[in-house]
Amino acid sequence: MAHRIDTKLIHAGEPSPRHQGAVSLPIYQSATFETTGEEKEYHEHRYARLSNTPNHLALHAKLAALEGAEAALVTASGMAAITTTLLALLRAGDHVLFHEVLYGGTRDFASRDFEPLGLSSDSIDATDPSGWKEKLRPTTRVVYVETITNPTMQVAEHEAVVAFAREHGLVSVVDNTFASPVNFRPAENGYDLSVHSATKYLNGHSDLIAGAVLGSDALIRKIALKLDHLGGSLDPHACFLLHRGIKTLALRVRQQNASALALARALEAHPAVERVHYPGLESSPSHQRARRYLDGFGGMLAVSLAGGLEAARAFCSRIRLGIFAPSLGGVETLVTRPAETSHSGMPRTQREALGISDGLVRISVGIEAVEDLIEDFTRALG
Ligand code: PLP
Repeated sequence: MAHRIDTKLIHAGEPSPRHQGAVSLPIYQSATFETTGEEKEYHEHRYARLSNTPNHLALHAKLAALEGAEAALVTASGMAAITTTLLALLRAGDHVLFHEVLYGGTRDFASRDFEPLGLSSDSIDATDPSGWKEKLRPTTRVVYVETITNPTMQVAEHEAVVAFAREHGLVSVVDNTFASPVNFRPAENGYDLSVHSATKYLNGHSDLIAGAVLGSDALIRKIALKLDHLGGSLDPHACFLLHRGIKTLALRVRQQNASALALARALEAHPAVERVHYPGLESSPSHQRARRYLDGFGGMLAVSLAGGLEAARAFCSRIRLGIFAPSLGGVETLVTRPAETSHSGMPRTQREALGISDGLVRISVGIEAVEDLIEDFTRALG
């Protein structure tokens, strides 16, 4: 019987029988494991860098079940998941189509590290298929988008991205960090691969750095072999923490969905606010797509203030409950200005063209009482 995601979060991937009856899978803090002398391929040896301790294996099975993928692989960070995936899929001469608004680290990898590797890329507007074909080259291998983009919260035209990839023989990759498997399951929507910064919602407690990639057995095997060589594997202790944190994912994300929508509505109604970027608002250009593709609108929103940078600085300094820190997806509300954190590497003109002004404030809504958050944020607006 197929279980619902709440049940999978608790039971999928758990070892059977339980190790020594332990209800919580213990940490196998061992770099290497005894062999019985049989002939083995290098990648089959039990060694923590090869991502095959009991902690890795349980987590892989749980993650795959959450998105309905065949297989999963955890990595030492979200960026390790992204870079290892791309390096496994590409060889010198290949070309990638990226959504024009991306997490800054992914964009910097493409803009700074692709050229010396003989790779190239172009940007597309993933919300509008009309311009995609003209960017296609005979060497294009991958189309890469984010479920909900960081930080302007656009929702890609996912069905068209998947269809375009199939038509042109590309591997479709989506960064599903912002949505989490609770709000969007890429494999069920036809994507070949989904990548995550597990640092964010999957773990949910702002206390570790981890990543994950999910997809077919064949693609995950290829990426796992690349990870074995690049070495960005997750430590068993971090696997344990991620395994523990993920069990409450559905509870956290549903509350964050509801709180972010309520906060977005309260901020949109405030006269000091010029614009709220949140796919759950009817005013969002992505609202119809969000309704079509997502089970929830997510816990991330961004606010442009009428007073620009000065007003944004004053707003941030007056917020008491939100902690001014980069990252997102934790139980605590976090606030940042993307122009000085995730997108600081981008020239201002390019940033502004994409709607990332100096005064844009991004809010990752935590699980505090939403009434307290609304009170705090509206007071901070003055
Ligand atoms: N993808 C998205 C959407 C992110 O927001 C981040 C980090 O903020 C990453 C990937 C990179 O993840 P990590 O910091 O775990 O390497």
